[in-house]
Amino acid sequence: MPLLRTLTDLPIDLVLTHAHIDHMYHAGEFERVYVGADDIRAWRKTLGPLYAAGHILYHLPPKQVRFRRFQPVRDGDCFDLGGLTIQAMSAPGHTPGSMIYIDAEHRILFTGDAFGSGEASWMWLPGCAPVSKLQSNFTVLLNRLKPYAQYRFMGGHRLQGIVNEKHPRSNPLNYGVLQNMVKLCGDMLSGAVEGHRVHLVPLLPLYVYTFQTASMVIHKRSIH
Ligand SMILES: [Zn+2]
Ligand SMILES: [Zn+2]
Repeated sequence: MPLLRTLTDLPIDLVLTHAHIDHMYHAGEFERVYVGADDIRAWRKTLGPLYAAGHILYHLPPKQVRFRRFQPVRDGDCFDLGGLTIQAMSAPGHTPGSMIYIDAEHRILFTGDAFGSGEASWMWLPGCAPVSKLQSNFTVLLNRLKPYAQYRFMGGHRLQGIVNEKHPRSNPLNYGVLQNMVKLCGDMLSGAVEGHRVHLVPLLPLYVYTFQTASMVIHKRSIH
């Protein structure tokens, strides 16, 4: 918030792509915060405990969020910024309530971590959908995003910084990454692609799967 205040004196609301700590650690500093309705639903059982655990993973001092006061965002909701409208599009998978935000005037999509962000899409976290669900969700998204295929895709991360330096795969993000992600899901389900073990979290057997510009990190037990 202090940084944003150097940019404007106008009221500032926070609109989140999803409820992961690396996207909302400072959310408590904002009077009004919006997040996907299904992330609010998943907060108590899944995303809230993950938020708490995230402080340890990222070595952050604990910070309270007033999640109950967060405002739900639903597919098609619009944010009027006064002459500029941002439209929300549901993109579940990475979290149940993940949202993409469309700025048609500047031809920009804010995609968060919905289908790739940094080296590889993290689909190993509690609350991430299994691969068959990702495949169907991404297929829907692929059709819905067709009119925006030439837009600039702004993901949540430039680099996720964990997998390894040989995987700058989903950076830069674009419509082709989503196309490849659909293909990757199909290949994972049919066994046509093999995963490589990555040591991301101690004792957690995670694998990275890749097809061209798309890649994801996942538990083998989520491949169904
Ligand atoms: Zn995330
Ligand atoms: Zn993230």
